[in-house]
Amino acid sequence: MSDPALAAILAAERTRRADQIGLLAGENHSAPEVRELLGSVFADKYAEGYPGRRHHTGCEQADAVETLAVERAKALFGAEHANVQPLSGTGAVLAAYAALLRPGDAVLAMSLAHGGHLSNGSAANFSGRWFDFSGYGVREDDGLIDLDQVRDLARAVRPKAIVAGSISYPRDVDWPAFRAIADEVGAYLVAAAAQTIGLVAGGAITSPVPCADVVCGVTHKVLGGPRGGLLLCRDELAERVDRAVFPFTQGGPAMNQIAAKALVLGRAAEPEFADYTARTVANARALGEGLAASGLRLLTGGTDTHLVTADARGLGLSGREAERRCEAVGLLIGRCAVPFHEVPPAEACGIRLGTAAVTTRGMGPEQMTELAELLGRVLRPADAKGAKGARGADGAEEVAERVRGLAQRYPVDAAVRESSVN
Ligand SMILES: *Cc1c(COP(=O)(O)O)cnc(C)c1O
Repeated sequence: MSDPALAAILAAERTRRADQIGLLAGENHSAPEVRELLGSVFADKYAEGYPGRRHHTGCEQADAVETLAVERAKALFGAEHANVQPLSGTGAVLAAYAALLRPGDAVLAMSLAHGGHLSNGSAANFSGRWFDFSGYGVREDDGLIDLDQVRDLARAVRPKAIVAGSISYPRDVDWPAFRAIADEVGAYLVAAAAQTIGLVAGGAITSPVPCADVVCGVTHKVLGGPRGGLLLCRDELAERVDRAVFPFTQGGPAMNQIAAKALVLGRAAEPEFADYTARTVANARALGEGLAASGLRLLTGGTDTHLVTADARGLGLSGREAERRCEAVGLLIGRCAVPFHEVPPAEACGIRLGTAAVTTRGMGPEQMTELAELLGRVLRPADAKGAKGARGADGAEEVAERVRGLAQRYPVDAAVRESSVN
């Protein structure tokens, strides 16, 4: 890298990535080959359109790589049609809505206060401005999606589409039940499956593909691939979905991103990936049990996915303050909404963790128990029984030391041969 300013930033980021332990729900560590493809000659290529019908010349290999990615996506998920061009997860959702809806249409989705993504009708997002969203949520007693409420709201608002899927709901989704409700009111069913599509690929949770009209996913979360979106649908909607991506919401696709998507969509079909997703879920269960043992209340009482969510109010902390304390010792966690306790999202009162990245590093249930103990020490009040909290400067330093040790024992690129790239 000949640019000294960039070289310094890059080196510092590499160190940060190696020294910290990432428990952010939507992050993973991509293999060097993914980053090699992102930096490949495909980065230069303009290829508006689709294989065999491009608006640019010189697209023979672009056609080949996109066809490979599409065929792999279809085979992996058992889908009739796949579109690998969305530049992001939000872009995939925008295109799904564009394929199925008109401005002003009624849409029923998980409310943001209960775990819906911004694209589920936030006023700050295109979705809230262009569609008429109603929000369903979870039950107060067990934290699980209230399907009776979904059905009642669907009957009342007669939505053109129902959206299922969330950024923080840690449980499997009852797709057939959503399908039945959508059929009853004549609505499309959209799966907002960005968080979990990788677990679906590995067979660790229920696939939305047989039930949903359009499935929106990303390749950078559990799949461990390049940042970017993915759409799956039935043949009947293929033309509408493709036109909704290009030319309706995007111009030229990022062919380098598509090449890297092809790589991970191929790898995800191998038995090793199914094993990885099973270990990712087992790790989330172990992490959740450890946090519960440290006195945190888990939302929904547990997890079926890579996500663990907990209520930080019992600790006397906001989600933001919990994030800050953890970051100070090298642990990256996120904050999230706690249903029925509305506070501004910038503070929040829940914490959200994901185990995709630590599982990629090779950690197992034993390390999850250790991480939960360290998290508990950082988050618990210092005056908790036995004064075991680590909020004091000394305790925090000791925790930071143990985090660094763990990070070194499970290096980010250990499992990978060549690490000269990026
Ligand atoms: C991560 C996520 C998104 C956003 O993906 P981006 O690539 O950041 O745009 C959208 N919806 C859900 C449910 C997600 O989990």
